[in-house]
Amino acid sequence: MTIKTKSFQNTDELKAHILTQEPTFYTSSKTSTVIPYDKLSEEIKSSLTLGDLSKIPPQMTLNGDNLVLSGAVNWQDADQFLKANQRAIMTSPTEQLALVLAGVATSCTGERCFAFGNLRKQIVRLKYLDFEGTEKELHRSQPFPHIKGLEAYQAAFAPYAHFKNAPFPRFETATDLMIGTEGQLGIVTELELETTPHDSVTYVFLLLPRWEEDYRAHLEVFEKVQSYRGAVISCELLDANCMSFLKPEERMGVNQDIILMEIKANQFEDVFDHLLNQLVHTSMEDVFEVTGHKFHQIRASVPRAVFEENSRMGVKKMGTDCQVKGEDFSKLLDTYRAAAKIGVRYNLFGHFGDAHLHFNFMPAPADTAICQKEFEHLYQKVFEWRGSPFAEHGIGLLKQKFIKSFITDVQRDVFKELKKIHDPKGQFFPQGFMLSV
Ligand SMILES: Cc1cc2nc3c(=O)[nH]c(=O)nc-3n(C[C@H](O)[C@H](O)[C@H](O)COP(=O)(O)OP(=O)(O)OC[C@H]3O[C@@H](n4cnc5c(N)ncnc54)[C@H](O)[C@@H]3O)c2cc1C
Repeated sequence: MTIKTKSFQNTDELKAHILTQEPTFYTSSKTSTVIPYDKLSEEIKSSLTLGDLSKIPPQMTLNGDNLVLSGAVNWQDADQFLKANQRAIMTSPTEQLALVLAGVATSCTGERCFAFGNLRKQIVRLKYLDFEGTEKELHRSQPFPHIKGLEAYQAAFAPYAHFKNAPFPRFETATDLMIGTEGQLGIVTELELETTPHDSVTYVFLLLPRWEEDYRAHLEVFEKVQSYRGAVISCELLDANCMSFLKPEERMGVNQDIILMEIKANQFEDVFDHLLNQLVHTSMEDVFEVTGHKFHQIRASVPRAVFEENSRMGVKKMGTDCQVKGEDFSKLLDTYRAAAKIGVRYNLFGHFGDAHLHFNFMPAPADTAICQKEFEHLYQKVFEWRGSPFAEHGIGLLKQKFIKSFITDVQRDVFKELKKIHDPKGQFFPQGFMLSV
């Protein structure tokens, strides 16, 4: 298989390429964990053109309190730009070097989703290039254009409405055409995003027993923190196994899990008195303040290191992205406990307050088949609980094999119809989930 890369320096070059109708997989920062960028030839047998969007000059401006951006703006730069204007991003992926426009395509979420909801909710309007290279604008105030099968599709979406993302995209408002469709219907070029005031925050972490041995303390925090969404901006877990990915001086606890919380400083006293100080299973001696720098550095370095180690070992990432209803959270932890016993190294981290955790196997190449089998079992359980199997990282190429049981002809018919209307020449990520599930 040959992989050819074409970089675009501006939108005009991109438009010209679209007019060639060459089937292309457009990329931004290439941080997606569901696209094996270093092993694309194993996933895609035919030749492939990668369209690199990361060189298009970044532009940012404010429209009132909304951030308007185009080009290759990453989350870190967007946040710095906003902070200089006393505003802040509401939700962004832990990987801050990912590009914001790609986040629309993946319907990304992140830590602060706990307080502010997912990115989709914050998108006021967007522009995209269609298959004729024409730039079109979509507003969230408009409904999703009617197509055959849409009512049945929307009815099938209802059980997933409360999750960050469902096994298939939510087609409700006009902007949803580009949200979570992973670049299969056009290329996102501009975005207007709601922001929030840049509040001062306090970061704390709690030391807990290992979840594999006793998760009562975890469940107590999970239940109590639900009443503090807003005052608590994010509530994240890194289990004891994650600590081995940190430098010795960065590690927290001794063979203990940690829960990290970002709390609005002006509501800290309330959270301290009525949440932290009321915990029966966690002593106040196990609650510590931490700097914002350390919070973000630790939270990002573990998933990065997991990703890098998988690459080094020559295996594709084997991690879950499941979110379940609060009442099913202990069932999810029980299922992960069973997975932890198969004898392959593992770790658990993620968006704890949202019942959304990434369980990662760290297999040697010979162990991948047994891990794969374990994941099939897990996805079957998530299906039975009507949970969300791919709550933030999307489907890409790696999760296509797991999506099948969540999809029926109701979704397939709408996907085909959308591809027919918006990608009649099959030039936008033809290997994506819309035509392959
Ligand atoms: C350490 C780590 C932590 C992460 N944490 C999170 C997290 O907390 N939350 C989360 O949601 N994700 C997370 N991710 C996954 C990843 O960062 C997101 O999916 C991100 O949105 C991908 O952005 P990117 O610029 O790297 O896109 P790429 O990987 O380059 O592309 C991803 C997909 O978007 C499409 N695409 C890219 N740009 C455009 C565009 N302009 N128009 C249309 N389609 C486009 C591509 O075709 C592809 O299908 C994490 C990844 C890592 C490595």
